[in-house]
Amino acid sequence: MFDLAQRHDGDLVRLEVGEPDFDTPEHVIDAAASAARDGATHYTSNAGLPECRRAISDTLADEYGVEHDPDEVVVTVGGMEALHLAVLATVSPDEELLVPGPTWPNYETQATLADGRFREVPMPAETGFALDADRVIDAMSDDTAAVVLTTPSNPTGRVFDPDECRAVVEAAADHDAYVIADEVYLGLTYDGPVEGIAAYTDHPDHVLTVGSCSKRYAMTGWRLGWLAGDRHVLDEVVTVRESTTACAPSVSQHAAIAALTRPQEPFQEMYRAFEERRDLVADRIDAIDGLSAPRPEGAFYAFLDPGIDAPAVDVAKHLLREHGVVLAPGDGFGDTAPGRLRLSFANSVDRLEEGFDRIEAGLAEY
Ligand code: PLP
Repeated sequence: MFDLAQRHDGDLVRLEVGEPDFDTPEHVIDAAASAARDGATHYTSNAGLPECRRAISDTLADEYGVEHDPDEVVVTVGGMEALHLAVLATVSPDEELLVPGPTWPNYETQATLADGRFREVPMPAETGFALDADRVIDAMSDDTAAVVLTTPSNPTGRVFDPDECRAVVEAAADHDAYVIADEVYLGLTYDGPVEGIAAYTDHPDHVLTVGSCSKRYAMTGWRLGWLAGDRHVLDEVVTVRESTTACAPSVSQHAAIAALTRPQEPFQEMYRAFEERRDLVADRIDAIDGLSAPRPEGAFYAFLDPGIDAPAVDVAKHLLREHGVVLAPGDGFGDTAPGRLRLSFANSVDRLEEGFDRIEAGLAEY
């Protein structure tokens, strides 16, 4: 859809994009620039700058109830590298990585890179793809090395129920497996504060927490994330990353320190904008005949059921070519919900209103 959109002449409302539409706040850019001028242009230690690990450790504890000493934190090249390293560290050849579907596609590639097997466990559409721990636990076997829980979810915008997450962690511990908690959207939840999975389980040593500055702090291009968890696993991770990226970019680590420790007002403004858009998106979905979606509880996605018996790619192409609005077809997010369309509300209120007018007209015509 991205390529089609690039080739399309005329005004398009782009609602397929998975990154904040905000630029990184000035004070973060200034802090990074002055750090670079002061000499932060070299490698750091493999695990990251001590001040950056401390800032991440404090943020995890203060905002999400997840307790890790700074030496149980590795600073990574985005959440993406943290996930890749977590999968490499936990999944051996022919072992299984389980992921509830619908799912962000990169986990499958990461399992393949580890010579492991990827298995999507479909969650029920009737409950809006809420996490059903029993389904995940039934799919576990002695071959299960790790389970990824993505909360808030990309693509559904759901926040998983703590009791369901707890049950999955418990079963993973029984199988001597890990839960990789992909919490890169955790700061963006709209129905009250949400703790990290490691905060409310009896087996935090079986949880590897992945976080990132990308979404919450509008810093996708800085490529700065983290992996936090059991020291023995992190030792393996640091050994692997010595031969891959060596360390996260020094200047981006300084940017992260500023984002995490300095005034939060610019990020709170972004949060409030996302919150307003979430309300608008939920209202517009309710008001359009035949259209439905689980109410987005976090991240900036709504997973639309267009109520049309046709491949989502065809519907998405129709909406793009004839009505100038771009959505991501559900087939991109595993086998669970191929007929759906993911809408990103990382766009202004005016453009979202315009986008929904176009979706309404396009679906009625289809
Ligand atoms: N996890 C999920 C669910 C995502 O949607 C993304 C990015 O879109 C990432 C992880 C990785 O983000 P980053 O590497 O920018 O931190």
